[in-house]
Amino acid sequence: ISFSSSNLPKKLLQNIEAAGYEMPTPVQMQAIPAALTGKSLLVSADTGSGKTASFLVPIVSHCASVRLESSTNQKKPLAIILTPTRELSIQVEEHAKLLAKGLPFKTALVVGGDPMAGQRHRIEGGVELIVGTPGRLIDLLTKHDNELDDVIFFVLDEVDLMLQRGFRDQVMQIFRALSQPQILMYSATISPEVEKMASSMAKGIVVISV
Ligand code: AMP
Repeated sequence: ISFSSSNLPKKLLQNIEAAGYEMPTPVQMQAIPAALTGKSLLVSADTGSGKTASFLVPIVSHCASVRLESSTNQKKPLAIILTPTRELSIQVEEHAKLLAKGLPFKTALVVGGDPMAGQRHRIEGGVELIVGTPGRLIDLLTKHDNELDDVIFFVLDEVDLMLQRGFRDQVMQIFRALSQPQILMYSATISPEVEKMASSMAKGIVVISV
Protein backbone atom coordinates (compact mmCIF):
# COMPACT_ATOMS: atom_id res chain seq x y z
CA ILE A 1 0.00 0.00 0.00
CA SER A 2 1.67 3.18 -1.19
CA PHE A 3 0.55 6.67 -2.16
CA SER A 4 1.33 6.04 -5.82
CA SER A 5 -0.85 2.91 -6.03
CA SER A 6 -3.82 5.00 -4.94
CA ASN A 7 -5.96 6.87 -7.39
CA LEU A 8 -4.75 10.37 -6.53
CA PRO A 9 -4.10 13.19 -9.03
CA LYS A 10 -0.57 13.13 -10.41
CA LYS A 11 0.26 16.64 -9.16
CA LEU A 12 -0.82 15.67 -5.66
CA LEU A 13 1.40 12.58 -5.76
CA GLN A 14 4.31 14.79 -6.83
CA ASN A 15 3.64 17.14 -3.92
CA ILE A 16 3.49 14.21 -1.50
CA GLU A 17 6.80 12.96 -2.83
CA ALA A 18 8.33 16.44 -2.62
CA ALA A 19 7.24 16.61 1.04
CA GLY A 20 9.31 13.48 1.61
CA TYR A 21 6.44 11.16 2.44
CA GLU A 22 7.37 7.72 1.14
CA MET A 23 4.69 5.58 2.75
CA PRO A 24 1.32 6.48 4.22
CA THR A 25 1.28 6.39 8.03
CA PRO A 26 -1.21 4.00 9.71
CA VAL A 27 -3.85 6.71 10.16
CA GLN A 28 -3.42 7.75 6.53
CA MET A 29 -3.80 4.14 5.34
CA GLN A 30 -7.17 3.96 7.02
CA ALA A 31 -8.57 7.47 6.75
CA ILE A 32 -7.61 8.43 3.18
CA PRO A 33 -9.46 5.60 1.38
CA ALA A 34 -12.46 5.88 3.73
CA ALA A 35 -12.73 9.64 3.22
CA LEU A 36 -12.42 9.21 -0.55
CA THR A 37 -15.42 6.89 -0.57
CA GLY A 38 -17.49 9.68 0.97
CA LYS A 39 -17.75 8.38 4.52
CA SER A 40 -17.84 10.61 7.57
CA LEU A 41 -15.12 9.71 10.05
CA LEU A 42 -14.35 10.01 13.72
CA VAL A 43 -10.63 9.38 14.03
CA SER A 44 -8.56 9.06 17.15
CA ALA A 45 -4.98 9.95 16.29
CA ASP A 46 -2.21 11.83 18.07
CA THR A 47 -0.28 14.80 16.78
CA GLY A 48 2.72 13.36 14.96
CA SER A 49 0.71 10.50 13.46
CA GLY A 50 0.31 12.22 10.10
CA LYS A 51 -3.31 13.03 10.86
CA THR A 52 -3.26 16.41 9.11
CA ALA A 53 -2.34 14.91 5.74
CA SER A 54 -4.89 12.15 6.33
CA PHE A 55 -7.67 14.71 5.92
CA LEU A 56 -5.89 17.10 3.56
CA VAL A 57 -5.03 14.48 0.93
CA PRO A 58 -8.64 13.38 0.26
CA ILE A 59 -9.87 16.99 0.44
CA VAL A 60 -7.30 18.32 -2.02
CA SER A 61 -7.85 15.36 -4.32
CA HIS A 62 -11.63 15.51 -4.37
CA CYS A 63 -12.05 19.30 -4.41
CA ALA A 64 -9.49 19.79 -7.18
CA SER A 65 -11.34 17.32 -9.38
CA VAL A 66 -14.71 18.90 -8.59
CA ARG A 67 -13.28 22.23 -9.79
CA LEU A 68 -11.73 20.73 -12.91
CA GLU A 69 -15.07 19.16 -13.86
CA SER A 70 -17.15 22.22 -13.08
CA SER A 71 -18.08 24.65 -15.81
CA THR A 72 -19.14 27.57 -13.64
CA ASN A 73 -16.59 30.14 -12.62
CA GLN A 74 -18.37 30.89 -9.39
CA LYS A 75 -16.05 29.46 -6.79
CA LYS A 76 -17.63 29.09 -3.40
CA PRO A 77 -15.64 27.18 -0.74
CA LEU A 78 -15.85 23.37 -0.95
CA ALA A 79 -14.23 22.56 2.39
CA ILE A 80 -13.97 24.02 5.88
CA ILE A 81 -11.42 22.96 8.49
CA LEU A 82 -11.97 24.30 12.01
CA THR A 83 -9.27 24.21 14.66
CA PRO A 84 -9.27 25.53 18.24
CA THR A 85 -6.30 27.89 17.84
CA ARG A 86 -4.87 30.43 15.46
CA GLU A 87 -1.50 28.65 15.49
CA LEU A 88 -2.96 25.29 14.56
CA SER A 89 -4.99 26.87 11.75
CA ILE A 90 -1.85 28.53 10.38
CA GLN A 91 -0.03 25.17 10.36
CA VAL A 92 -2.89 23.34 8.71
CA GLU A 93 -3.22 25.99 6.00
CA GLU A 94 0.53 25.86 5.29
CA HIS A 95 0.31 22.08 5.00
CA ALA A 96 -2.64 22.41 2.61
CA LYS A 97 -0.78 24.87 0.40
CA LEU A 98 2.15 22.46 0.19
CA LEU A 99 -0.05 19.58 -0.93
CA ALA A 100 -2.09 21.71 -3.34
CA LYS A 101 0.78 23.24 -5.31
CA GLY A 102 -0.05 23.31 -9.02
CA LEU A 103 -3.66 22.18 -8.48
CA PRO A 104 -6.86 24.25 -8.76
CA PHE A 105 -7.07 24.50 -5.00
CA LYS A 106 -6.78 27.79 -3.14
CA THR A 107 -6.97 28.33 0.59
CA ALA A 108 -8.11 31.11 2.91
CA LEU A 109 -6.93 31.48 6.49
CA VAL A 110 -9.66 32.84 8.74
CA VAL A 111 -8.35 33.58 12.24
CA GLY A 112 -8.48 36.39 14.74
CA GLY A 113 -5.65 38.89 14.88
CA ASP A 114 -5.49 39.53 11.14
CA PRO A 115 -7.70 42.14 9.44
CA MET A 116 -11.14 40.85 8.43
CA ALA A 117 -11.16 42.81 5.17
CA GLY A 118 -8.27 40.83 3.70
CA GLN A 119 -9.89 37.52 4.65
CA ARG A 120 -13.23 38.61 3.16
CA HIS A 121 -11.49 39.65 -0.04
CA ARG A 122 -9.61 36.36 -0.25
CA ILE A 123 -12.83 34.31 0.03
CA GLU A 124 -14.61 36.47 -2.52
CA GLY A 125 -11.77 35.92 -4.95
CA GLY A 126 -12.67 32.23 -4.94
CA VAL A 127 -11.16 29.56 -2.69
CA GLU A 128 -11.67 25.82 -2.33
CA LEU A 129 -10.74 25.61 1.36
CA ILE A 130 -11.26 27.78 4.44
CA VAL A 131 -9.09 26.96 7.45
CA GLY A 132 -9.78 28.79 10.64
CA THR A 133 -11.18 29.24 14.10
CA PRO A 134 -14.95 29.26 14.66
CA GLY A 135 -15.41 32.77 16.09
CA ARG A 136 -13.71 34.59 13.25
CA LEU A 137 -15.45 32.47 10.63
CA ILE A 138 -18.84 33.38 12.08
CA ASP A 139 -17.93 37.09 12.10
CA LEU A 140 -16.80 36.84 8.51
CA LEU A 141 -19.89 35.03 7.29
CA THR A 142 -22.41 37.41 8.81
CA LYS A 143 -24.61 38.55 5.91
CA HIS A 144 -22.97 35.99 3.62
CA ASP A 145 -24.83 32.87 4.71
CA ASN A 146 -25.25 31.32 1.29
CA GLU A 147 -21.50 31.43 0.82
CA LEU A 148 -21.29 27.97 2.40
CA ASP A 149 -23.87 26.32 0.13
CA ASP A 150 -21.27 24.28 -1.76
CA VAL A 151 -19.28 22.94 1.20
CA ILE A 152 -18.79 19.18 0.92
CA PHE A 153 -16.14 18.59 3.60
CA PHE A 154 -16.37 19.77 7.20
CA VAL A 155 -13.32 18.97 9.35
CA LEU A 156 -13.12 19.39 13.10
CA ASP A 157 -9.53 19.05 14.28
CA GLU A 158 -9.15 18.50 18.03
CA VAL A 159 -12.84 17.68 18.09
CA ASP A 160 -12.82 16.98 21.84
CA LEU A 161 -12.04 20.67 22.37
CA MET A 162 -14.24 21.88 19.54
CA LEU A 163 -17.34 20.30 21.04
CA GLN A 164 -16.75 21.60 24.55
CA ARG A 165 -18.76 24.37 26.06
CA GLY A 166 -17.53 27.67 24.66
CA PHE A 167 -16.78 26.35 21.21
CA ARG A 168 -19.71 24.02 20.71
CA ASP A 169 -22.36 26.66 19.95
CA GLN A 170 -20.11 28.34 17.39
CA VAL A 171 -19.25 25.03 15.73
CA MET A 172 -22.91 24.06 15.55
CA GLN A 173 -23.86 27.45 14.14
CA ILE A 174 -21.42 26.92 11.27
CA PHE A 175 -22.52 23.30 10.84
CA ARG A 176 -26.17 24.37 10.49
CA ALA A 177 -25.25 26.62 7.57
CA LEU A 178 -24.01 23.56 5.64
CA SER A 179 -26.09 21.07 3.71
CA GLN A 180 -25.15 17.55 4.80
CA PRO A 181 -21.39 17.75 4.36
CA GLN A 182 -19.07 14.80 4.79
CA ILE A 183 -17.62 15.28 8.29
CA LEU A 184 -14.09 14.36 9.33
CA MET A 185 -13.41 14.62 13.06
CA TYR A 186 -10.07 14.11 14.76
CA SER A 187 -9.09 13.83 18.38
CA ALA A 188 -6.34 12.28 20.49
CA THR A 189 -8.95 10.53 22.59
CA ILE A 190 -12.60 9.94 21.88
CA SER A 191 -14.97 10.27 24.81
CA PRO A 192 -18.43 8.67 24.72
CA GLU A 193 -19.86 12.19 24.69
CA VAL A 194 -17.92 13.16 21.58
CA GLU A 195 -18.91 9.91 19.91
CA LYS A 196 -22.55 10.67 20.63
CA MET A 197 -22.35 14.20 19.23
CA ALA A 198 -20.48 12.95 16.19
CA SER A 199 -23.11 10.31 15.45
CA SER A 200 -25.83 12.93 15.71
CA MET A 201 -24.04 15.15 13.17
CA ALA A 202 -23.34 12.54 10.49
CA LYS A 203 -25.16 9.39 9.47
CA GLY A 204 -23.15 6.18 9.35
CA ILE A 205 -20.03 7.67 10.84
CA VAL A 206 -17.00 5.36 10.79
CA VAL A 207 -14.78 5.25 13.88
CA ILE A 208 -11.07 4.80 13.23
CA SER A 209 -8.48 4.42 15.93
CA VAL A 210 -4.79 3.79 15.40
P1 AMP B 1 0.70 15.57 12.06
O1 AMP B 1 0.38 14.34 12.82
O2 AMP B 1 -0.32 15.89 11.03
O3 AMP B 1 0.95 16.74 12.97
O4 AMP B 1 2.04 15.31 11.21
C1 AMP B 1 3.29 15.12 11.84
C2 AMP B 1 4.44 15.27 10.84
O5 AMP B 1 4.52 14.11 10.01
C3 AMP B 1 4.34 16.45 9.92
O6 AMP B 1 5.57 17.14 9.93
C4 AMP B 1 4.09 15.85 8.56
O7 AMP B 1 4.67 16.64 7.55
C5 AMP B 1 4.73 14.50 8.66
N1 AMP B 1 4.12 13.46 7.81
C6 AMP B 1 2.79 13.33 7.50
N2 AMP B 1 2.57 12.24 6.74
C7 AMP B 1 3.77 11.65 6.55
C8 AMP B 1 4.21 10.47 5.83
N3 AMP B 1 3.34 9.69 5.18
N4 AMP B 1 5.51 10.17 5.86
C9 AMP B 1 6.39 10.96 6.54
N5 AMP B 1 6.05 12.07 7.22
C10 AMP B 1 4.77 12.43 7.24
